[in-house]
Amino acid sequence: MIDELRDLYQEVILDHGRNPRNFGVPAHHTCQARGNNPMCGDRVTVYLTLDDQGVIRDARFDGRGCAISTASASMMTEIVKGMTLPQVEQLFQRFHRLCTGNERAADDGDEANREALERLQVLSGVREFPVRVKCATLPWHTLKAAVAGSADQEVTTE
Ligand code: ZN
Repeated sequence: MIDELRDLYQEVILDHGRNPRNFGVPAHHTCQARGNNPMCGDRVTVYLTLDDQGVIRDARFDGRGCAISTASASMMTEIVKGMTLPQVEQLFQRFHRLCTGNERAADDGDEANREALERLQVLSGVREFPVRVKCATLPWHTLKAAVAGSADQEVTTE
């Protein structure tokens, strides 16, 4: 990765880390889950509002974590709004591959998916630091747990 790009990515991560979007407990939500990454000490709770079509109408989070996990949660809550659950699942699989090193945003033909992945590219630097992959993916694992459970769910990274 060239230095200018690395600096830009770092800036985006720090911005989201300092000024997280969609942060705080919402007045209303339809499901939630807590995520815990003991390797780093990251804790996140994800709150979702799903409509009866299975579309995510609102996504928010709170908790405490490192800059990577906070930035990832912040970006995730922006990106998944308006997406269906299968779209989110597909995006998460691709994002996970992006973080572990063998995915390129340009590979996808689906426009919305490609745009989302391009935004998430700023987190791809974690591929050089395997421990950090869990920080970046924790909010996504937590979102999946929220969707999967009708009650309050907790997920812990291994
Ligand atoms: Zn972390």
